[in-house]
Amino acid sequence: MVVGESGLGKSTLINSLFLTDLYSPEYPGPSHRIKKTVQVEQSKVLIKEGGVQLLLTIVDTPGFGDAVDNSNCWQPVTDHIDSKFEDYLNAESRVNRRQMPDSRVHCCLYFIAPSGHGLKPLDIEFMKRLHEKVNIIPLIAKADTLTPEECQQFKKQIMREIQEHKIKIYEFPETDDEEESKLVKKIKDRLPLAVVGSNTIIEVNGKRVRGRQYPWGVAEVENGEHCDFTILRNMLIRTHMQDLKDVTNNVHYENYRSRKLAAVTYNGVDNNKNKGQLTKSDSVEGIRSPLAQMEEERRDHVTKMKKMEMEMEQVFEMKVKEKIQKLRDSEAELQRRHEQMKKNLEAQHKELEEKRRQLEEEKVSWEAQQRMLEQQKLDASRTLEKNKKKKIF
Ligand code: GDP
Repeated sequence: MVVGESGLGKSTLINSLFLTDLYSPEYPGPSHRIKKTVQVEQSKVLIKEGGVQLLLTIVDTPGFGDAVDNSNCWQPVTDHIDSKFEDYLNAESRVNRRQMPDSRVHCCLYFIAPSGHGLKPLDIEFMKRLHEKVNIIPLIAKADTLTPEECQQFKKQIMREIQEHKIKIYEFPETDDEEESKLVKKIKDRLPLAVVGSNTIIEVNGKRVRGRQYPWGVAEVENGEHCDFTILRNMLIRTHMQDLKDVTNNVHYENYRSRKLAAVTYNGVDNNKNKGQLTKSDSVEGIRSPLAQMEEERRDHVTKMKKMEMEMEQVFEMKVKEKIQKLRDSEAELQRRHEQMKKNLEAQHKELEEKRRQLEEEKVSWEAQQRMLEQQKLDASRTLEKNKKKKIF
């Protein structure tokens, strides 16, 4: 996140830091839009270095200090930081924690005007409002407007004032590693880091560099002799990124969480009336307490499960009904086929009976015929016998 008075080069530095044009003349940074807003703006940049991809979220804040009344000008900034903590806390207390996007603000670059006269009362107040919430790294803006000696003096004065006013800036971690501790000492000695930003590429000795062209020379953004830009960039995305995240999680977020939980125990539980029971009231700030929210989520979950159960039961009942109907239908079909077969068999039986009867009749008439034939034969042989006897006599 970048914070500071309007016109100190915040948007330009962001463009220079990540070598991308987040802003252009057609789409200037928040402090330069014609209609000024107090809106905090987020944009994402994807940095690729040595095959490693890093997705950074840049939070640009509208410059303050222009208004006659600057009271509470830090409000949109502190609100933004708190809202990110709130989002994370909500994600953490959710039943399903698999997807937990971390959009907490891990670092705040605080721009100090290169006045040569130390911090302004507004800077002191602003940083105090922020220092319990975020890692502050103080920067001297537009360092090319100071001579090296002026810059050194100005740095010393600012660090003195920071200590006097007990402003807590980001503390670079001590390490046992000799290399690392040398680097940390180098950065610490240079605090606040003096930076120069530019959106133009200039050719210097045949090399194309980001810089600011003046009649007397070029202020090179990435030249360590000219400013501390490279140190800042390296510490932000290489050497101290993890520590910035760790401190955010272990110190600032924990502070936020315990403040929230304190609000819950103070307001969420009614100790006198319903011991141990959550009341429906919300936290002091009017924001729902995490416990109340968890309870609400649990209730939502139970309701959802009940609804699902009911729906499943309905589906089950419907399926059972369908099955019974099918069984009934096939039973009826079987019955129908059985009746049909029975009828067919009866018809066949009748037919056979008829044929048997006919056969019986035929047999009877055949037997009668046979008998008649026998009789005729008998009669004929008798007649023959008689005729023979007649012939003999
Ligand atoms: P912001 O309002 O803080 O975002 O400031 P801008 O980035 O819009 O810059 C305001 C003006 O300051 C522009 O004209 C920039 O060209 C100029 N500027 C930005 N960075 C530097 C710097 O490092 N040195 C000098 N001399 N001017 C700068």
